[in-house]
Amino acid sequence: MKIICIGRNYAKHIEELKNERPKDPVIFMKPDSAILLKNNPFFIPPFSEDIHYEVELVVKIKKIGKHIDEKFAPKYYDEIGLGIDFTARDLQSKLKEKGLPWEKAKAFDGSAVVGNFIDKSELNMSQIHFQLLKNGELVQDGDSTHMLWSIDEIISYVSQFFTLKIGDLIFTGTPSGVGKVAADDVLEGTIEGRRMFQVKVK
Ligand code: ZN
Repeated sequence: MKIICIGRNYAKHIEELKNERPKDPVIFMKPDSAILLKNNPFFIPPFSEDIHYEVELVVKIKKIGKHIDEKFAPKYYDEIGLGIDFTARDLQSKLKEKGLPWEKAKAFDGSAVVGNFIDKSELNMSQIHFQLLKNGELVQDGDSTHMLWSIDEIISYVSQFFTLKIGDLIFTGTPSGVGKVAADDVLEGTIEGRRMFQVKVK
């Protein structure tokens, strides 16, 4: 399986990182080795002094597809989850400056937290509300209506380049409020108030 991530999908997050608003979705990938196994802590890697959390809605693909028309995209997923796209921001800034790929900063071991999934029939798909709490304090408050590209638009766009396969995950971008983690932090993610994951940082 593969993990496809969308960058810069929320206007306020683009502003907080002083990035340019993209014309097309920004795409990068994480290998399956990036997945943080359930109930394992996240260890801050030695190559970064500035690991950021980014909470994101995650779509689980259930059907193989290529060149998917936006109107048929809902047939390709039933489940919505929540995850963290851990990012070595210091490393990413250096790579960005040089115009180099982001993988070292985005795709390292443990960088993809994947929580539980909810059947989309249990959600109001036109507006999904999700949150990230750090040590019990609200740090990111997300609303899917603020996405520049919707889930269905993302699936259509991504599938022009990559065949989507059963079990692939799409991280749909983070809202504003990203920030640094430190040892002993506890991160908890919720969708509509339901706890989807809890991660300890070490
Ligand atoms: Zn992200």
